[in-house]
Amino acid sequence: MNFDTLQSPLDFLQHQLGGIAHEQALRIYESSWEEEGKAISASIDRNGTPWLRMFDPLGKRIDEILLPQEYWKLVKNGYKTGAVWRVFEENSLLTSYLQGYITSFYDPGLYCPHTVSLATAVSIEKYGTETLKQCFLSQLLKKDDTVSQGATWMTEIKGGSDLGSNTETLATLRKDKWFINGEKYFCSNVQAEMALVAARIEGSQKNVRGLALFLVPKVCQDGNLNYNIRRIKNKIATRSVATGEIELRDSEAYLLGRPEMGIYLIMEVLNISRVANSMASMALAQRALYDAWCFARQRHAFAKPIIEHGLLQQQFTDRFRQLRGGFTLGWEAAKMLDDVWRETPPYSERYHLFRLLAHLSKYWSAEFAVQTAKWAIEVYGGIGVLKEYGVERWLREAMILQIWEGTPHRQILDGLEVMERKGAHILLFDYLQDRTSKTTLKTMRNRVEVHLKLPKTEKEAKSEALFSDLALFTMNALTPKP
Ligand SMILES: Cc1cc2nc3c(=O)[nH]c(=O)nc-3n(C[C@H](O)[C@H](O)[C@H](O)COP(=O)(O)OP(=O)(O)OC[C@H]3O[C@@H](n4cnc5c(N)ncnc54)[C@H](O)[C@@H]3O)c2cc1C
Repeated sequence: MNFDTLQSPLDFLQHQLGGIAHEQALRIYESSWEEEGKAISASIDRNGTPWLRMFDPLGKRIDEILLPQEYWKLVKNGYKTGAVWRVFEENSLLTSYLQGYITSFYDPGLYCPHTVSLATAVSIEKYGTETLKQCFLSQLLKKDDTVSQGATWMTEIKGGSDLGSNTETLATLRKDKWFINGEKYFCSNVQAEMALVAARIEGSQKNVRGLALFLVPKVCQDGNLNYNIRRIKNKIATRSVATGEIELRDSEAYLLGRPEMGIYLIMEVLNISRVANSMASMALAQRALYDAWCFARQRHAFAKPIIEHGLLQQQFTDRFRQLRGGFTLGWEAAKMLDDVWRETPPYSERYHLFRLLAHLSKYWSAEFAVQTAKWAIEVYGGIGVLKEYGVERWLREAMILQIWEGTPHRQILDGLEVMERKGAHILLFDYLQDRTSKTTLKTMRNRVEVHLKLPKTEKEAKSEALFSDLALFTMNALTPKP
């Protein structure tokens, strides 16, 4: 195994995928991170929570996020390279995901603005009116410094897992215009020029069927702020994206799609970000593994570099293999999403198969990132827990990757649901039948089928071991044999 390839995210991607489209643009992008992005990112992380300037000197409410000037250069460089516009020019998500992998190797938090802006653009393009596209989509697709950003705000104070019961933000139609009232509790990329917001249509049922998705611009038609930022969250990591709380008070909003389809549109937003999260998790794991390897080659114990001790060497080898497997699983989800992202309900079977793959990948990759970051600290020994050497950062970042876009519990339970309701496991086993032995496939298939017949409480209680094994089984089947 050539650990040197871990130094560069693009080298790793090339090794995994063979030829890569737009290699030169991605190489320039990676170099910009090496040359200055890395240092900027480290200083943003050290500086902690950005400032919220709520008023201008004359007392007008402005809600401006104060991040260092170099930050804007970094984030905009991502847009210019093609995090959003390239998807529409090429009708493909794949290069954007590769770019996201590179971003996340250096700073997983900074990939968030790119991802949520992409999800915003896709939703407007699929479900917005021509006027919305002209006013807003065009701003998100710009290739220069004037590019606008998007955001995706669903979660409220009562909780993000159960959006159906916990969304209290209300949308009201008055004289053919929608207005939104409520509060959103976790709003990443809070300074964005526009956001997708989940709200309950006034008078609708209090479950997921009552949710609709709206585009809410930061500024109203009269030029005033359309909502306020109450405060910025003081987070342990992902400090390269400001996350805040939002107060919506009669905020102007534009309905996307039909109101009763809202939950499907919300799921489509999550599809994009869950695959992005898988890319980010594997990139973070690569970074942690690489940092640990550099250290282990230089650190001596018992008369030789620690990397030469059998136990540690085996751990490195195993993690490298798992990194490759996890990336393969995530990339399969990305490729399958690339086949289905333009679908609208009712969806194809392939869409349901994609959903299962995405749940497996998000669940497995985020856990792998956390475990690899924790292990990298161990490799550094005592130095690992010192903030000045930076390896502890990967664990802080990884903990957030595990939670946003749905916790591990959510991935497991939603994975069970898509198997039960859409037969996604049958689609998966059909899809993998030529890639694994008949016996292994039959054993796994029997396990899943027996599990799905358990009473509800027992089925949920015992689901983690099954889901974890299904992820490993899928990964092994997809990984090319040496
Ligand atoms: C840094 C950061 C940025 C974020 N940015 C955004 C954003 O931009 N937009 C946005 O909409 N959200 C955002 N979120 C919110 C995130 O999506 C939620 O935190 C996440 O979905 C979990 O919701 P919760 O925190 O409310 O936990 P809860 O839903 O309250 O859950 C608490 C715990 O209970 C578990 N649980 C819940 N139900 C079950 C069940 N049936 N079975 C077993 N366990 C269960 C959960 O898995 C979790 O472990 C962000 C979160 C963080 C940390």
